[in-house]
Amino acid sequence: MSPERADLLVVGGGPVGLAAAIEGRRAGLSVLLVEPRTGPVDKACGEGLMPGTVAALDRLGVLIQGSPFRGIRYVAPDGQTTATHHFAAGVGLGVRRIALHAALTARATEVGVIRHCGRVVGLARNRTAAGSEVRAVVGIELADGTAINGRWILGCDGLHSIIRRESGLELGSDGRRFGIRRHAALAPWADVVEVHWSANGEAYVTPISDSEVGIAVLGPRGWSFDEALTTFPALTRRLDGAAWTTSARGAGPLRQKVSSPVRDRVLLIGDAAGYVDALTGEGLRIGLACARAAVRAVVAGRPQDYPRTWRSLTREYRWLTSGLVSATRIPVARRMLVPVASRLPRVFGAAVDALAR
Ligand SMILES: Cc1cc2nc3c(=O)[nH]c(=O)nc-3n(C[C@H](O)[C@H](O)[C@H](O)COP(=O)(O)OP(=O)(O)OC[C@H]3O[C@@H](n4cnc5c(N)ncnc54)[C@H](O)[C@@H]3O)c2cc1C
Repeated sequence: MSPERADLLVVGGGPVGLAAAIEGRRAGLSVLLVEPRTGPVDKACGEGLMPGTVAALDRLGVLIQGSPFRGIRYVAPDGQTTATHHFAAGVGLGVRRIALHAALTARATEVGVIRHCGRVVGLARNRTAAGSEVRAVVGIELADGTAINGRWILGCDGLHSIIRRESGLELGSDGRRFGIRRHAALAPWADVVEVHWSANGEAYVTPISDSEVGIAVLGPRGWSFDEALTTFPALTRRLDGAAWTTSARGAGPLRQKVSSPVRDRVLLIGDAAGYVDALTGEGLRIGLACARAAVRAVVAGRPQDYPRTWRSLTREYRWLTSGLVSATRIPVARRMLVPVASRLPRVFGAAVDALAR
């Protein structure tokens, strides 16, 4: 394959771009993936792979190792009131992002994905007769001035996707919530991911190895990691004296809206296709499922089918997550959430299982 042309141009080599590239190769397409960063790529993430994510990676032949977790626990600020649900099926895995990235990259290389180091700055369009407004997308343009042609373009370039903007699908962000993560040298104390609730945000704790936990805080713009931690006294007690093993890494604003995940030959996948919030730890599962659907649509030559599949794959996540984020903006609802969840275990369990599949 010429590096200047491919069936599938994948913009962004995060987990979703790498998964889409692997799907493309498995479908017999030539695939060129463009990513500006070299080496295992880190990112602010809770690093909890839901059982559905673990199954999707297994299907792709990606070998990962991590720390198993069996469910989700909500914890009130007093540290005493909790609601716990163990997944009805499967086990989740806590995996450092750099380890996940390395495993996906190894598999992509094995199946013949060509990787190109570069930053995409726009879409390349064909030339038309003077006066014509409509110019078809034929490829991508890189920051170094080169253009690469491709039959299909998969925008997998994350929360602040340039492909989403350049294809005219962006509807903006309301910019209220951000996320920050750090790791602490501490043995996990639970076989679940704990979500601690405070008046202004949430902190979730994911087991990463026998001697490390990841902590991701979600909350308002401008919150520092240290400031956020002071609002979770039960968690702070647990962390007492533990050394930090990584520095703080942030992402946001989380909410990103799109008019559609498709235009012409451009398909958006993962966070690039719009994002609600990290509260339910769903990004990777949804992204991997949509990567498969997008590649199926292009192989069938029917990109117009992708929006319907995308809507169906993301529906529960969009409704449950946006419902939870909106409801818990009301202080009394936020205070009551964990006590109510502990009193309604079936409702809490059904919601957790719907998001874990
Ligand atoms: C605080 C926080 C906690 C989270 N916790 C969880 C969790 O526990 N479980 C879970 O499943 N999800 C979680 N998520 C969501 C998850 O991190 C994302 O959904 C996931 O990373 C999306 O993957 P992606 O490949 O679409 O985007 P990204 O991982 O952001 O990758 C995008 C890639 O595109 C590249 N790129 C960007 N611009 C360009 C460009 N112009 N040209 C070329 N390449 C470009 C970037 O370098 C990057 O490598 C969390 C998110 C946050 C913010």
